[in-house]
Amino acid sequence: DALGPTICVGEILVEIMATTVGRGFLQPQPLEGPFPSGAPAIFIDQCARMGGTAALIGSVGDDDFGRMTLARLARDGVDVRAVAVLPDHPTGTAFVRYRADGARDFVYNIARSAAACIARTPAVEEVLARAGHLHVMGSALSIPAAAEVIVAAATAVKARGGSLSVDPNLRKELAQDAATARTFAALVAMADLLLPSGDELERAAGVAGEAAALERLFALGVREVALKRGAGGASVVAAGAAPVNAPAFAVDEVDPTGAGDCFGGAYVACRRLGLPVAEALTYACAAGARNVTRRGPMEGAGTRSELDTFIANTPRRPC
Ligand code: ATP
Ligand code: MG
Repeated sequence: DALGPTICVGEILVEIMATTVGRGFLQPQPLEGPFPSGAPAIFIDQCARMGGTAALIGSVGDDDFGRMTLARLARDGVDVRAVAVLPDHPTGTAFVRYRADGARDFVYNIARSAAACIARTPAVEEVLARAGHLHVMGSALSIPAAAEVIVAAATAVKARGGSLSVDPNLRKELAQDAATARTFAALVAMADLLLPSGDELERAAGVAGEAAALERLFALGVREVALKRGAGGASVVAAGAAPVNAPAFAVDEVDPTGAGDCFGGAYVACRRLGLPVAEALTYACAAGARNVTRRGPMEGAGTRSELDTFIANTPRRPC
């Protein structure tokens, strides 16, 4: 990457999952984990595994949850020098249990954890000074300190001719207040690439209807929109070009969490490595599909050669 690494800013968490399906955590029950997690961490891990240069900005506690997660990220090739290890706050956590209908209940400790204490340390300034691409995870905007660094990073990266991608990643547990919604809208207007799923396209555009929403985003200056449709596959629509559609790979979904983040990490890495849209989209769908076959939100992130093997051996779902 001539312009410097892809960077992501935000929550670094561990996830602890219920091993049974049901409603929330109102009784004692078996749990499995900790697994490395946090949407920005999952994204950047997949980006690095794909072969992109990648750096993460965030904070963990001086505890085993933080040590395990940093070791995984470093093993996978992520530059973690701008991740602070804080003595007085625990690493952020997300407890998750699935319901029978596929919905998820979360208990988060983000706002009062190390994840919320992102500061502009010298190590952070050093990464911001050389980043070539910023990926924004909408979930991180709920953390005021992260939102501040993200806005500064977006401005710096765009000023030096770098690029910006935005995954809205809206979560009902992480509601946007008015200020966060304004920051989100400003970042969408600066974005080169948007990666929405479900109703996030219309919410990001502020317009109803897929065609009108796309038109509005292109008018704002967005150049590519990657639409994620879970087991329905994905499409990339670029301004003034025919959509490129990709069917999903046929896999048994074991754990859907992290699919969108892996999709994004692979797509951004591939595009920055110079791959054309269709090839990047195939890798992105493979990364998302492979990830849902493993328990744990980033356990299925694949290297380029693992994804090549996956693509060669996995049938596509009928469209
Ligand atoms: P997240 O819950 O991680 O935020 P998302 O809603 O952003 O996810 P999805 O559409 O669920 O994103 O998943 C991203 C991509 O991963 C899909 O476009 C698809 O290519 C692949 N994918 C996800 N789930 C499946 C599945 N069950 N089978 C095959 N591919 C899948
Ligand atoms: Mg998502």
